[in-house]
Amino acid sequence: MIVGVPKEVKNHEYRVGLTPDQVTELRLWGHQVLVQKNAGEAIGFMDEHYVMAGAQMVDCPSDIFAEAEMIVKVKEPQPEECKMLRSGQVLFTYLHLAPDLHQTQALVQSNAICIAYETVTSANGRLPLLAPMSEVAGRMSIQAAAHHLEKANGGRALLLAGVPGVPAADVVILGAGVVGSAALQMAVGMGSRVTIIDKNLDRLRELDALYGNSIHTLYSSTANIERSVLSADVVIGSVLVPGGAAPKLVTRKMVSAMKSGSVIVDVAIDQGGCFETSHATTHQEPTYQIDDVIHYCVANMPGAVARTSTMALTNATAPFVMQIANKGAQQALIENPHLMNGLNVYQGHITCKAVACAHGLDY
Ligand code: NAD
Repeated sequence: MIVGVPKEVKNHEYRVGLTPDQVTELRLWGHQVLVQKNAGEAIGFMDEHYVMAGAQMVDCPSDIFAEAEMIVKVKEPQPEECKMLRSGQVLFTYLHLAPDLHQTQALVQSNAICIAYETVTSANGRLPLLAPMSEVAGRMSIQAAAHHLEKANGGRALLLAGVPGVPAADVVILGAGVVGSAALQMAVGMGSRVTIIDKNLDRLRELDALYGNSIHTLYSSTANIERSVLSADVVIGSVLVPGGAAPKLVTRKMVSAMKSGSVIVDVAIDQGGCFETSHATTHQEPTYQIDDVIHYCVANMPGAVARTSTMALTNATAPFVMQIANKGAQQALIENPHLMNGLNVYQGHITCKAVACAHGLDY
């Protein structure tokens, strides 16, 4: 199969669909790989690395879209990319079609086979192509919190770990899923005192068995959240209600009563955020303050560490890319129900119920 990797065109997107190592792997199986010049340059995957791996470097995205049988990307195709998609061509990338009618219509019109990373499933019922970015964001959340706790960055002038004779900072994590667990691991590793809150008691049992008395677990009730948030130096927001907006677990009144200089990192901001005071920010201006509480609400946290994020994402996508390349899209989809769950649009038809429902279209 001819696999094409265009350079991402979305603003400040530095990730790339395949690393040179994955090009090597595809070449070993006899596939041809076209990579747009400078596609990975910003994160240190230089053209010469791709050439050494066996890729053919191409000047224009239009040449890649014209020749490749499968396009592997990171972000949803932009309007100019949608126009270049061809009938029967496979598009494998994040799509997030439910809130995006224009893109949905463009993909339907393209007649392409569009498989979305975010709806591919795994045997344990999880979303394996979303998880790596949640792991990155969860780990980053504690790094961001530690930075903003410093006095020069507006914070409470605290070291997360404390030192012998001085207490560590109090970190509260709302939501014990992939993001929350990754944040927990970092917070514990950095020596802070951590409370993790979830409404899923089985998840809290798992974490209790793993960390023992080095963490506190709490059931998610308004009273438990309020007590924890008011005594916290850092609060991480990492709840998710699948398919829905994040519940506003922390009210404006609670935020006003938090300690001056404490830090909120609302990772769930891409689903609206779980603090009443949250609004999305960017890497250029990641924080704002309300009542002396620092809010970090960057909607695409993994973008800040695009090299790590690319490697984490492509580790997860690589087996699926290989299946599609080796078997052809139709056979790979028939044989792998988890890949089939990723199919959002098939040659002019919406094949994902949630996307069809979101737009009131036929499914
Ligand atoms: P997940 O499904 O693995 O975990 C969510 C957890 O929230 C679950 O354990 C669930 O039980 C818990 N939860 C739901 N309602 C709750 C409530 N009322 N009280 C307490 N806990 C509750 O999801 P995830 O992968 O950890 O993602 C969390 C959020 O982070 C999502 O909104 C995701 O889109 C977002 N995210 C953001 C970025 C970013 O760059 N900002 C990056 C990755 C993920």
